[in-house]
Amino acid sequence: MREIVRKRGEKMGDMEKTRAERDEFFMREAIKEAKKAWAKEEVPIGCVIVLNGEIIARAHNLRESKQLPTAHAEILAIEEACRKTGSWRLEGAELYVTLEPCPMCAGAIIMSRIKRVVYGASDPKGGCAGTFMNLLEDERFNHQSEVAPGVLADECGQLLTDFFQQLRQKRKAEKAAKQHLSMQQTEGHE
Ligand SMILES: [Zn+2]
Repeated sequence: MREIVRKRGEKMGDMEKTRAERDEFFMREAIKEAKKAWAKEEVPIGCVIVLNGEIIARAHNLRESKQLPTAHAEILAIEEACRKTGSWRLEGAELYVTLEPCPMCAGAIIMSRIKRVVYGASDPKGGCAGTFMNLLEDERFNHQSEVAPGVLADECGQLLTDFFQQLRQKRKAEKAAKQHLSMQQTEGHE
C-alpha cells in the first residue's frame, strides 16, 4: 500500500532537512489540497497525514459536495489514513492542516492518537488547537497531541480571504443580474 502513495517528491530525507523546512514542505502539500477544494467551490481547507516521512493520506474539505457537516479535510484524511494502515491508531503520525482544527476535528485527532498537529492559519472563532480553546494539549484527556501553529499562516489565511471575497463578488453579480432580468420582464409587460 505504501508504494502506491509514494510519489516523487513526497518522500523526504529527514536527516538533511530541518524541522521547519520539513513542516513547510508538507504544509505546501496541504495547501495543494485546499486549492482542490476551491476548484469545487468548497471553502479551501486541505490536510495531509505524514507517517515516517511519507504522506499516507491527503484530503480537502467536501462539506458542500457531500452535504455533510463532518466532511472536513481532517476527518476525511484520518479516515483515509486508517484505511491505509488498517488501524484506528495513528500513533506516530503527524497531521498538517491549513486551518486550525475545529472541536470535531480536534476530537478525532485525540481519538486517533495522532502525535503532532501542524496548522497554518489560526481560527479565533472556533480553533481548538490553542486559539479559541486547546483541546489537543489538555492533559485531562488521556492523549495529547503536540501542536505547531502558524506554519505558512499567511499563505493559508490568504487563500480563505480570497475565496470569501470572490464568493461575495459572485453573489453580488448574481443578484444584480437577477434584478436586471426582472426589470426587463416588467418592461416587457407594459
Ligand atoms: Zn473540523
